[in-house]
Amino acid sequence: MSYTRRVLAWAIQNNPNEPEFHQAITEIFTSLKPFVDSRPEYEKAGILERLIEPERVIIFRIPWVDDAGKVQVNKGYRVQYNSALGPYKGGLRFHPSVSLSIMKFLAFEQTFKNSLTGQPLGGGKGGADFNPKGRSDREIMAFCQSLMTELSRHIGANTDVPAGDIGVGAREIGFMYGQYKRLANCVEGVFTGKGLSYGGSLVRTEATGYGLIYLMDGMLKRRGETFEGKTVVISGSGNVAINAAQKCTQLGGKVVALSDSNGYIYDADGIDIDAVKLIKEVKRGRLSMYKKHRPDSVYQDGRGIWSIPCDIALPCATQNELHEEDAKILVKNGCIAVGEGANMPTTLEATDVFLKNKVLFLPGKAANAGGVSTSALEMAQNSMRIPWTFEEVDEKLKEIMANIGKSIDEAAKEADFEGNFVVGANIAGFKKLAEAMMQQGVV
Ligand code: NDP
Repeated sequence: MSYTRRVLAWAIQNNPNEPEFHQAITEIFTSLKPFVDSRPEYEKAGILERLIEPERVIIFRIPWVDDAGKVQVNKGYRVQYNSALGPYKGGLRFHPSVSLSIMKFLAFEQTFKNSLTGQPLGGGKGGADFNPKGRSDREIMAFCQSLMTELSRHIGANTDVPAGDIGVGAREIGFMYGQYKRLANCVEGVFTGKGLSYGGSLVRTEATGYGLIYLMDGMLKRRGETFEGKTVVISGSGNVAINAAQKCTQLGGKVVALSDSNGYIYDADGIDIDAVKLIKEVKRGRLSMYKKHRPDSVYQDGRGIWSIPCDIALPCATQNELHEEDAKILVKNGCIAVGEGANMPTTLEATDVFLKNKVLFLPGKAANAGGVSTSALEMAQNSMRIPWTFEEVDEKLKEIMANIGKSIDEAAKEADFEGNFVVGANIAGFKKLAEAMMQQGVV
């Protein structure tokens, strides 16, 4: 059996009951197979075995008191996956589905993504099985403070720098950062995605969605296409989806649908993004309220968003939200490009459908790397104690996304998989990581 297959089988057997983790390592190892198996130096150095085992996993209790005076307990995680390239870096997710498997898959993906950005960042991820929906500001604060009381001893500006993810936005980061500062008695860039008044970077809020569109725009142009006049369907209606919709609209695309975990909206005239922002970010409500703003729009319960005909599909909600049947419908409806704003939103089978049908497919590792790249820019500004303007950060983000596009394209061509950016992204990310690990000895 080949080296990659052997390590993959071993990792799956050694980490039972972790389906999302198995899916992520299978995707990456399968596409790395020809590259890695033809280079025996990787096997000798045990690179895959070391890559697959996180450097450290912290699991902890988060006790807090709700508004009724009752004690609640959640489970917290931080997976410090790989520090070969820099401090562990990756978001915190608050969602009831959070598990060790999901944390490990996200941290593993993040390690490759961070390598791809060209920035000095290791990989990590964390979160809690806490559901912020319906909780008061005070309850959110109590929860964030309790989480940070434990997590603070494991993180630091040069050790591990968390950020936001699903369920963790500016409010939650503010509460966690405030508690960290109090415990550590130290003002440092220990979080990214901070508020602008206390060390945050301009463009960080928009960065993942904008970066997705910058990369997609660049790759479309290589095929002689642009966003101009294209119909676009985006799943989710959180940070990534909203900012992707905004940039896409600025470039001439028409976003006709968005979704949340209850259902989706279809607006043939193009989604009114300000109305969505008001509903989701100010009122913290449901997308079903959109009809009040645009009576001609349609709201539909359930996960049928991919049946809406479009030229470009951007899954920006969560993992495994686009299945094989969805991919077939998208292809049948003439979809020419898919960009993953979320992490692993497309199942392995659905990805195959896109690749076989020559749909331009941009994997999350590359497509949503704008967020963490801008986090690296936030860290740089914090170290210098000098903030950059919106235009300066936006220009740097565009340049980083263009470089990512170039490196995944070149890596795919080099491996004889021209146009397959899943292979391109995995090889480009792996090469830099493996080189750093080999140079640092057996650690
Ligand atoms: P948000 O919490 O801001 O938004 C998530 C959106 O997805 C919401 O609309 C939510 O609906 C929906 N959603 C969440 N879970 C499900 C589910 N199980 N089924 C259907 N819809 C769901 O998160 P972000 O926008 O920050 O993150 C979205 C994705 O992008 C995630 O995969 C994240 O890991 C990835 N990502 C985010 C980055 C960032 O900078 N924020 C960076 C890189 C990747 P509802 O409102 O009903 O909860």
